[in-house]
Amino acid sequence: MGYKFATNAIHAGQSADPTTGAVMTPIYQTSTYQQAAPGDHKGYEYSRGTNPTRRALEECLAVLENGKYGLAFSSGMAATETVLKLLKPGDEVITGDDLYGGSYRIFTKVYERYGIRFHFVDMSQPEQIESKINGNTRLIWIETPTNPTLKLADIAAVGQLAKDAGVLLAVDNTFASPYLQNPLDLGADIVMHSVTKYIGGHSDVVMGALVVKEQELYDRLFFYYNACGGTPGPQDCFLVLRGIKTLHLRMQAHCNNGREVAEYLKTHPRVEKIYWPGFEDHPGHAIAKQQMRDFGGMVSIVLKGASLQETFDVASSFKVFTLAESLGGVESLINHPATMTHGSIPKALREQVGVVDNLIRISVGVEDIGDLLADLEQALDR
Ligand SMILES: *Cc1c(COP(=O)(O)O)cnc(C)c1O
Repeated sequence: MGYKFATNAIHAGQSADPTTGAVMTPIYQTSTYQQAAPGDHKGYEYSRGTNPTRRALEECLAVLENGKYGLAFSSGMAATETVLKLLKPGDEVITGDDLYGGSYRIFTKVYERYGIRFHFVDMSQPEQIESKINGNTRLIWIETPTNPTLKLADIAAVGQLAKDAGVLLAVDNTFASPYLQNPLDLGADIVMHSVTKYIGGHSDVVMGALVVKEQELYDRLFFYYNACGGTPGPQDCFLVLRGIKTLHLRMQAHCNNGREVAEYLKTHPRVEKIYWPGFEDHPGHAIAKQQMRDFGGMVSIVLKGASLQETFDVASSFKVFTLAESLGGVESLINHPATMTHGSIPKALREQVGVVDNLIRISVGVEDIGDLLADLEQALDR
């Protein structure tokens, strides 16, 4: 092995189909598999548990994250939920105060009801995590960079805290993608992805994934995977395998365009504040340089003195950027976090972490940079 990222993105987990020589992994559209005698099969029994198209994708994801075992899910939230199933009533979780809205919702609205306690702290301050660790702590769940204010958590520092306390560290690596950051190398036990975003990359599939290094942990996660059934279909797995073949090309283009958009917006008179970890004055810049290979394609801005209506007017006036939820696709998207992606977080709490009414999040796509800058200019000059 020992291949580089670009080679792995195109080949890992995949080999020519033994029956036909098909170079691309076939879509094994089957729920079940013939057995020669009861229990005598080729490693596949029923597709809730395993399917060859999905298996190819899982192996590819495991290699890209420098892990050993991958699991693909029907959504990012199904992947997150499967990690939470490792817990039992009385267990405690320490997590971030500016999480993806859906993660906040599943923690507080679903799993708190089952007797699991969540502590929300500023993940960029490891001492805040340390202060919440006690004998009931089982899991630390972090996201870095965060959504939408792009705060950084030092994965190696949090990994050390987790290791010292004997608790699991899970990292939601959706915003960075495996091209920019590999949490398992920095001490994480579990990497989670919303594959829907950069990994899929074309805004045509909803899918999630987990990657781990330890077989014992994989076996426990696989048990809940198979028992509960958040499995994706083979067509979607095929589409993601196809998307991953250009992950390195797309990510570099997202990073390059992201940098140009951030630099253009930084001095724009209508921009009061800008979040992009590539700026030296971004509070997480040093950590980003240390644990990421580039700064990504996400940029958030606060519009100077804009009311909710004025912010809506700007958000609705783009021609190349599309106003939509989600991120990480080849096309550029504009999002209004306060009412769209983060609508499920109470107003006081979201404002505390910077999700104000005049914040706009930009997922910079890979279109022509001149067209993107011109579209930003016409929308902001309105
Ligand atoms: C989208 C997203 C999720 C949830 O993933 P789905 O595929 O939408 O279920 C989790 N974390 C982050 C950071 C996300 O952006």
